[in-house]
Amino acid sequence: MAELKPGIRHHWRTRLIHANTRPSMPFRSLATPLYRGSTVLFDRFADASDDWRQATGYSYGQYGTPTTLELGARVAELEGARHTFIAPGGLAAISLVYLAYCRSGSHALLPRNAYGPNSELGRDLLRGLGIEVEAYEPGIGAGIAAQIRDNTALIWCESPGSVTMEIEDVPAIARTAHARGVPVALDNTYAAGVLFDAFAHGVDVSVQALTKYIGGHSDLLLGSVSVADDQGFERVGQALNQLGLCASPDDCSLALRGMQTLAVRLDRLEQTALRVATWLTSRPEVELVLHPALRDCPGHELWKRDFSGSASVFSVVLRPEWTPARVVGWMESLALFQMGFSWGGVASLVMAYPKLSRLPEGRGPRLVRLNVGLEEPEDLIADLAQAFDRA
Ligand SMILES: *Cc1c(COP(=O)(O)O)cnc(C)c1O
Repeated sequence: MAELKPGIRHHWRTRLIHANTRPSMPFRSLATPLYRGSTVLFDRFADASDDWRQATGYSYGQYGTPTTLELGARVAELEGARHTFIAPGGLAAISLVYLAYCRSGSHALLPRNAYGPNSELGRDLLRGLGIEVEAYEPGIGAGIAAQIRDNTALIWCESPGSVTMEIEDVPAIARTAHARGVPVALDNTYAAGVLFDAFAHGVDVSVQALTKYIGGHSDLLLGSVSVADDQGFERVGQALNQLGLCASPDDCSLALRGMQTLAVRLDRLEQTALRVATWLTSRPEVELVLHPALRDCPGHELWKRDFSGSASVFSVVLRPEWTPARVVGWMESLALFQMGFSWGGVASLVMAYPKLSRLPEGRGPRLVRLNVGLEEPEDLIADLAQAFDRA
């Protein structure tokens, strides 16, 4: 590009767009700068490439700005991935993985306790595209072999499972899948990419809703898809860039900020969740506490073997005399636990699932999921106690 000629004074309308003044560089902020941008400028036409594989030769905002690529690189470093792609949300990350690995005629396997919208995607949109998504029992382990077919293109794991919190034997599933040449994707949101080492346990693709722990403040939606190897990089990268799923640099900037406090938040959340969950086990109203670090939770031994810690979200099942109306009454009497979907932020949340049918003995409608935040544990316990007294 030619320089603007310093001697020429353009019309003010032109000067609004073109200026000779530029901030003096280098400026080194401790924080990652927020780079917004659709168009990327080139000095020479020969540099004007739009190949998404060029990680550092920026081509178009769609394929990343320094801010979005920095977030991907940071998540990749944390998870030990070959590469991490950033998607506009956790669910977008999930749908991206399906479209990267499945074709019309493909079969995919998904645990019965998977994140609800993932199951819905299989039942509706993917079925319409000729992709069959079949459910399997989360305790299946190496028994998954019986459900693998010649056209199985993808096996999902989610551990712990959404709402019901069962831990899966991911290494056994990965070994069995790989023996048949099938890639394994894990929804690793609960572990924030750190409490469970997906790649060390044989997973090929690790997905996170960065919305939860990495964002950490309930003010953004982002997802990540981390791949173990070059093959995953090609498949996911091509699908991502052809679909045009791109994330806002502003949200990525917030996620980069959230990431810096992930360790202290997770430590504190783990302690508070264990404190509250343990107190709940002593309550006469409670039949079961589903928290993977507690012995009664299905898959607890696997959690001890494979995880380095537990997080902020868990569920309780109230005793059989608790009707759905009474469960709702209890929830609505809570003051510090607010009713809302999602988890992983700084505020405590609560949600019931009256239509939940996968638990035995009609337990589903008596299940309440709790997410603890950064409040003082004794205040949270007092809140739960006063709501029990009122219900
Ligand atoms: C929240 C969540 C998602 C989806 O994330 P969004 O960013 O809300 O789209 C996916 N998987 C799990 C396990 C989740 O909890």
